[in-house]
Amino acid sequence: MKYGRLFVLSGPSGVGKSTILKELLARRKNIYFSVSATTRPPRPGEVDHVHYHFSTEEEFQQLIEDEELLEWAEYVGNYYGTPARYVNEAMEDGRDVILDIEVQGAGKVVQKRPDAVRIFIAPPSWNELERRLTERGTDAPETIHVRLSRAREEFLLARDYDYIVVNDAVENAVGALDAIMTAEHCRPAEQMRWMEQNG
Ligand code: ADP
Ligand code: 5GP
Repeated sequence: MKYGRLFVLSGPSGVGKSTILKELLARRKNIYFSVSATTRPPRPGEVDHVHYHFSTEEEFQQLIEDEELLEWAEYVGNYYGTPARYVNEAMEDGRDVILDIEVQGAGKVVQKRPDAVRIFIAPPSWNELERRLTERGTDAPETIHVRLSRAREEFLLARDYDYIVVNDAVENAVGALDAIMTAEHCRPAEQMRWMEQNG
């Protein structure tokens, strides 16, 4: 039985992580996309338990107290966290798991699971990032300003990641992610385990 791998995707707000993931999930089978809990209010079109588990601060605190979260972090005034149970179940079930989480949370995941693969999605330029955030039209100008300054801080940590993928065109970025996932399954540690189990 093959175990799934854990892939951690980070990158500034508005860089295109959700867009790329949607395409990747259509292209590549056997992936579980982890749905996070958050205290952020839903954006138009976001569905509870599909995009996020939308929670009150009290509910989120309870998840922390009950040790239900693999990691959690505060991001621009809201809390975000990864429910641990589904991640473990999916990996044991042989599925790859993808987390779309910011850099502090990614650091915590790697401490707990050193074999997690970290991928940073970068914008082709800062101007383009601002344009995408503005065009998306889901955040107030003040929030966009805070998210952009947060993006510069996050970028300083990109060098610690295993891979950096530039989202210039969606097709290219999805192709790169797909290739990285395939390559990670060819690592000797994984291949040898598989071969030993199967004679
Ligand atoms: P994130 O999930 O990283 O916050 P989104 O996936 O919501 O970002 O993308 C932010 C905006 O940028 C959306 O309006 C999306 O359609 C657009 N976008 C995403 N990728 C690209 C790209 N490669 N080129 C142009 N626009 C893009
Ligand atoms: P947004 O509000 O734009 O959906 O997400 C804001 C940021 O929170 C993004 O960088 C996203 O990757 C991150 N995020 C989403 N879910 C989680 C999570 O469970 N944990 C952490 N640490 N960050 C998350």
